[in-house]
Amino acid sequence: MKPDTEGYMSDWTLDEFHIPEVADKDRFHDFALPLPLMQGIAALGYEYCTPIQSKTLPYALSDYDVTGQAQTGTGKTAAFLIAVLTRFWETPLQDSATKGHPRALILAPTRELALQIEGDAKGLSKYMGQRTVCVVGGMDFNKQLEKLDKKPVDLLVATPGRLIDFLERNKISLSKVEVLVIDEADRMLDMGFIPDVRRIVYQTPHKRRRQTLFFSATFNDSVMRLADSWTIDPEHVVIEPDSVATDTVDQRFWMIGQDQKEATLLNLCENPALERAIIFANRRDQTHRLVKFLQGKNITCEGLAGDVPQRKRLATLNRFKDGDLRILVATDVAGRGIHVDGISHVINYSLPEEAEDYVHRIGRTGRAGATGIAISFVSEDDAFNLPAIEEYIGEQVSCTVPDLNPS
Ligand code: AMP
Repeated sequence: MKPDTEGYMSDWTLDEFHIPEVADKDRFHDFALPLPLMQGIAALGYEYCTPIQSKTLPYALSDYDVTGQAQTGTGKTAAFLIAVLTRFWETPLQDSATKGHPRALILAPTRELALQIEGDAKGLSKYMGQRTVCVVGGMDFNKQLEKLDKKPVDLLVATPGRLIDFLERNKISLSKVEVLVIDEADRMLDMGFIPDVRRIVYQTPHKRRRQTLFFSATFNDSVMRLADSWTIDPEHVVIEPDSVATDTVDQRFWMIGQDQKEATLLNLCENPALERAIIFANRRDQTHRLVKFLQGKNITCEGLAGDVPQRKRLATLNRFKDGDLRILVATDVAGRGIHVDGISHVINYSLPEEAEDYVHRIGRTGRAGATGIAISFVSEDDAFNLPAIEEYIGEQVSCTVPDLNPS
């Protein structure tokens, strides 16, 4: 065991995180990140930087402000968290920290997003000793207060309303904030949170004395104005959203009775033309049921849903990536994190309830210039989701009878 800064003790070395160099991709190794952070990244199963990470990290790690145009699913959370955690590791506090005085404030519009960011922060900082606390509405105030009172906090993740409650009761002070992250600024605007956010931002140190990382899926005039007033000479990075209904995906819609879906799915899975496929289900229980059904018919497959333990999810994903697993059954939430090339087929066992999810699903295939096939089962139970999908992708689709040769 060798001690490192801040008492990090580990036998772990970068030899255990061997990622070959490839053209057009950055590795986390290329950014000279702290070793315990690399260990966290390795444990999460990340291999190469996503485009937003490649574009953001060189600036964010050099203390520049960044405005980033990127949607959820691009890896933007890790992009800003890696910058924050590196900064804190490299410049530990000289004085002992004071309770309720976070060094980084991350503002997000919704509880779900804030909790997700908290989870990612805890995962990445697992071997670093940085402490993350999340304060969000709709959950017990006193429990959140207890967490703040227990020990100093390094990263505070918050939704605006609940943070204002804490500020008004003098339970949190933003005077020591070194990094301010504003996530999904356009949604904050749509949800009417900007007056709250403005009050919060004014309680942090002046923008010349903090680093500001500002993210939004879209940048219209109003969002630009906010970005201008809260950042100084930011580097603006843009990640194009998944193009709507990519040209490289052959989309097929099969009209099929609800009671025929399982048999049709089985038929598809038995066909070797289905080289590597993701089957999407709308709910976790449906995912588990399909896995059981297919396994019972001797089809090797695994499920990926939110209630599967993280460790198992990663192992499953790695087997799928490595080509050791041909078929994955997933929910939308689990499916968003899947960035695997070479998926030949996406099968929508049920049409998603949100049209946007349809595009996210079919975007798993036809990546990197390859062509892919998306087959959607349309039955009496989910056909009513079709008009919204047609509107979203901007084209009318025609439903056909199943063609059992899916190539
Ligand atoms: P986000 O856009 O931040 O919501 O991230 C989407 C998903 O991608 C999350 O599940 C992350 O854990 C995952 N992720 C982030 N960075 C990487 C990476 N470099 N490699 C693989 N997965 C990643």
